[in-house]
Amino acid sequence: MAGGGAGDRARLLRRFADAVDADLENLARLEVANAGHTIGNARWEAGNVRDVLNYYAATPERLAGAQIPVAGGVDITFHEPIGVVGVIAPWNFPMPIASWGVAPALATGNTVVLKPAELTPLTALRLAELALDAGIPEGVFTVLPGAGPVVGQRLVDHPGVGKIVFTGSTRVGKKIMADCAAGVKRLTLELGGKNANIVFADADLEKAAAAAPGGAFDNAGQDCCSRSRVLVQREVYDRFLELLEPAVTSFRVGDPAEEGVQMGPLISAAHRDAVAGYVPDGAPVAFRGETPDGPGFWYPPTVLAPVDPGERAATEEIFGPVITVVPFTDEADAIRLANDTSYGLSASIWTRDLGCALRVSRAVEAGNLSVNSHSSVRYWTPFGGVKQSGLGRELGPDAVTAFTETKNLFIATED
Ligand code: NAP
Ligand code: MG
Repeated sequence: MAGGGAGDRARLLRRFADAVDADLENLARLEVANAGHTIGNARWEAGNVRDVLNYYAATPERLAGAQIPVAGGVDITFHEPIGVVGVIAPWNFPMPIASWGVAPALATGNTVVLKPAELTPLTALRLAELALDAGIPEGVFTVLPGAGPVVGQRLVDHPGVGKIVFTGSTRVGKKIMADCAAGVKRLTLELGGKNANIVFADADLEKAAAAAPGGAFDNAGQDCCSRSRVLVQREVYDRFLELLEPAVTSFRVGDPAEEGVQMGPLISAAHRDAVAGYVPDGAPVAFRGETPDGPGFWYPPTVLAPVDPGERAATEEIFGPVITVVPFTDEADAIRLANDTSYGLSASIWTRDLGCALRVSRAVEAGNLSVNSHSSVRYWTPFGGVKQSGLGRELGPDAVTAFTETKNLFIATED
């Protein structure tokens, strides 16, 4: 119900955020065990859940409709909850991605069933316990682990579920979109990416090269926003590679529980094999980092160059720590190369020329752009992709309306 409970709902969400904050170190350690995330990243991720809950806790009392002037009566609108929202999350960022769907869905008066990825259920289950501890009534936020084609598919097909929030691969996303059509089910899709990192000749090359590994290898490259397609203006191509090499070889790969480690292992043996498949014997490995011995699905940070822009490694989402470096001639060529993909999630542009930065930002087909930075995610700014990277936006001030239906009411005042 969208009206009377607004203050209570806001209070419960703040208490949920407080419970997450109090459990932050435990959640972070659980994610290190769950997904092999570095402890530094995992703390940020648990903190992001707290922040997203607090941000959307401000929604319930502000979810005002409109009063629209009409003849012969009064016209008002309501933002009604959809009902039951199914959130289907991937394994790469189990906590934040779950919260980007769960928090605005609860804030707008829906109930939620969250299906975490089969490989990473632990932190989702802990979040459900914390919600109960915070006083959120049983059945309002339910976590249901299980296999995608079983539990996920059931949420997609069940007539009682009014909306699906799916984050995952473009392949599964397309199937879910088709299946949602049967019930005209509401749908938000956050899918894959093959994101360009465009370095112009006038850029601060030292800074661009130093930042490139973090932009691509964070979370071992298992990041939909990984800037894995590095495009460098031809006249500085060699210089950029010279600067990139020490930044890559010194990227700290190791036990993710150890403070200061920058990259842990990949999620599974099968995924490591898939990543390695992009770097067959004889692949143009320009240089690569080190991996530790011992248990773990390790894959080293790897730079492929020179690479033909049409090659598989340069066009498909690898979802591992592998980048390709491709030269471009001028602004038009950079835009052409950046857009030569079915994806459109994010991109970075490195230049000191403000006009160029703005022109290229507007011309690159992506939902999230950054200039002289690789940052993509802030809970208070919109996030999402164009083309086959997704449908709809999460986070930021507008995401809440994706969890409501607008109802229009006309009341006649004339006899
Ligand atoms: P995935 O294989 O598509 O799985 C995502 C989720 O969907 C998992 O919970 C999975 O369950 C479930 N699923 C699988 N088949 C299903 C079906 N038939 N019906 C309903 N649900 C089903 O993706 P992933 O390998 O976990 O994650 C990596 C992908 O996510 C990458 O492509 C990445 O780019 C994308 N991603 C996008 C964003 C974004 O915001 N745009 C963010 C993060 C990741 P099980 O795993 O339990 O089988
Ligand atoms: Mg999968």
